[in-house]
Amino acid sequence: MISVIGAGPAGCYYAYKEQHDDVHLFEEDAVVGKPVACTGILTNSVRSVLDVPKDLVISKIERFKIVAPNKKAIYINLNKTNMVLDRARFDQFLAQKATDSGAQLHLKEKFVGFKKSGNLYLLKTSKKTYETDMIVGADGPYSPVAKAAGLYGNRQFVKGWQARCKFPGLEEGVTEIRMNLGEFSWIVPETDKIARVGVIGMDTAQLRRDYKKLLGASKIIEDQSGMIPLYNPQQKLRVGKEDIFLLGDAATQVKATTYGGIIYGLICGGYLADNKETYIKEFNKKLAKDLWISLKMRELMNAMNEQQSNELIEIFKKRNNAAVLEQHDRDFPSKFIVQLLMKEAKLWKLGFQIAKQKMWMS
Ligand SMILES: Cc1cc2nc3c(=O)[nH]c(=O)nc-3n(C[C@H](O)[C@H](O)[C@H](O)COP(=O)(O)OP(=O)(O)OC[C@H]3O[C@@H](n4cnc5c(N)ncnc54)[C@H](O)[C@@H]3O)c2cc1C
Repeated sequence: MISVIGAGPAGCYYAYKEQHDDVHLFEEDAVVGKPVACTGILTNSVRSVLDVPKDLVISKIERFKIVAPNKKAIYINLNKTNMVLDRARFDQFLAQKATDSGAQLHLKEKFVGFKKSGNLYLLKTSKKTYETDMIVGADGPYSPVAKAAGLYGNRQFVKGWQARCKFPGLEEGVTEIRMNLGEFSWIVPETDKIARVGVIGMDTAQLRRDYKKLLGASKIIEDQSGMIPLYNPQQKLRVGKEDIFLLGDAATQVKATTYGGIIYGLICGGYLADNKETYIKEFNKKLAKDLWISLKMRELMNAMNEQQSNELIEIFKKRNNAAVLEQHDRDFPSKFIVQLLMKEAKLWKLGFQIAKQKMWMS
């Protein structure tokens, strides 16, 4: 028996791909996908792992509008549109794929702990105890499986404050990013009147003030806030031991530039289902570099002062530089960061300046 804890995208996708004939998917909530705490943006790179049915896509993003603190803005026209998902139905779609391929879904059944017993594990849930050969913790940022297995490590979290709301002045197909609120903020239109609006950063009083400022007089329909783990490079070797493995947010597999985690959880679910023996190696070989680069980019962006943010926007006003961003999926910065740095000496200068200032501050 293989026990997967958590019916989010990572757990469901793994359970769908796993060929073993006795896979059990345990979810503490009564309904898969709810409550929603996500904007649900996916880049085109999802197509390498999954065909997303059109009816799960609420809207499409064709352009990003990035607004500097001095209010000057640039538009990045995406070569390949991003999709904005109905996140609850996306998770339900993946859960259906898992059960169609033979996995047994246990709703309202919470993982409580486990004990080793010979070659097996005794898995304790809120309902009963199971003998299981393998445990997969796809149980989100605070992963109880990681804690029970001693794989939790030293984690940091950011808070994503987000609401679905009636928002004035939305531009169709345009996501607006405001650089001076939180680490960044977003306004993602679902329709011409409704948007997913949020800010992200360390959970401080200032972040809450930024969130209020962003929301302004808009009318909240639904709160969709949640916590996101910061990728921990030391975690890269702690995504499994013996026959216990971690996936997705539980393994801090989240890119720190935009704090998107869905695609990494899916890709890693595929690696684990392909071969548990090579999972850790594959993850480290193929994804850890991008996660590390994203983390470093985020650290630099967080250390930027307002003037430097304004300068960054000026740099990307140049067509050549914007074109690099337009052509590549931001999920894999290793594919374009060198190209960008080679093209633009000002980026090096700015990067060094910020890094130096960051060293003084620490
Ligand atoms: C405001 C916000 C906006 C975001 N926007 C985006 C975005 O646009 N794009 C993107 O890619 N990512 C985004 N993310 C991140 C994304 O939501 C996560 O990376 C993604 O949900 C991780 O999937 P997962 O399957 O690893 O974990 P989760 O989706 O967290 O699923 C974990 C599951 O485990 C269950 N569980 C937990 N403990 C137990 C237990 N003890 N027993 C049984 N079940 C348990 C939970 O109920 C949950 O269903 C956002 C996050 C936030 C907070």
